[in-house]
Amino acid sequence: PITNTTDLSALLQQMLAQSQPLYSTGKVADYIPALAQVAPQQAAVAVATLDGRLHSAGAAQQSFSLQSISKIFGLVMAMNRLGDELWQRVNMEPSGQPFNSIVQLEWEQGIPRNPMINAGAIVVADVLVSHYSASKSAFLTFLRRLAGEEALYADQQVYLSELEHGNRNAAMAYLMKSFGNIEADVPQVLEHYFHQCAAAISCEQLARSLLFLANRGVQPSTNEQICSRRDAHRINAILSTSGMYDQSGEFAFKVGLPAKSGVGGAIVAIVPQFGVITAWSPPLNNYGNSVVAMQLIQQLADELGLSLF
Ligand code: GLU
Repeated sequence: PITNTTDLSALLQQMLAQSQPLYSTGKVADYIPALAQVAPQQAAVAVATLDGRLHSAGAAQQSFSLQSISKIFGLVMAMNRLGDELWQRVNMEPSGQPFNSIVQLEWEQGIPRNPMINAGAIVVADVLVSHYSASKSAFLTFLRRLAGEEALYADQQVYLSELEHGNRNAAMAYLMKSFGNIEADVPQVLEHYFHQCAAAISCEQLARSLLFLANRGVQPSTNEQICSRRDAHRINAILSTSGMYDQSGEFAFKVGLPAKSGVGGAIVAIVPQFGVITAWSPPLNNYGNSVVAMQLIQQLADELGLSLF
């Protein structure tokens, strides 16, 4: 969709400048105390393309907390390890409920609605804990390999803050354990989940790391098959229906791209056969989506006509 790269860089700069008045309409996540300390008035946008180009504007090399976007990486690892068996333990339906909702778990016998809400990601974390001898470092190794960046770590302060304030996630994990859908010890599963959420990454690194989802499962920089073509399509389908919390329908309507958001303020959108867009800014709307990042991605998709629909 984009031919003139100079124009793209200029467009990103211009969009970023225009979106800044939106800072004040959102609120930084504070239910995880360490996230509440992040300075709100920051923003970045990056576009990585399959041909190896990278365009960005703003604080695109500044690290933020990966949070819920880690659910994509965990899911790829679990799909690769468990194959289709995974789908007996987690469903693929949109939830119509907030990301940390517990009610459906009781109705649906401990089977989470999809892997992009917390309950689903906790089942995925259980698969990783049960199939890797050191799942936390396996996760980081995977992320580093995809980003092409050795120096990626989990932010210890965020990790500890989540562990300390993770009662709701613990409640969901124990409920699922009571239904037989968690194999490992709950504390170990939660540690893995919080550790992957606490990974620190920048917009540029994140955009590069997910290019395989726009390229039928193949990471273009190394030609490595990260997941099967079928699984890349399936992950994009789940992102389209469930990646943007309870605003996924509106996002499909207005933007029309598979995407995932995290309470650290980042949003990643996959443009099949073209590349990956990432945007980041900490203040969130009532659904938990970054107001500035939403605006940036929506505007870019609009300008370039990227909607898949
Ligand atoms: N670590 C966060 C939690 O479990 C992730 C939430 C998110 O980004 O949606 O509450």
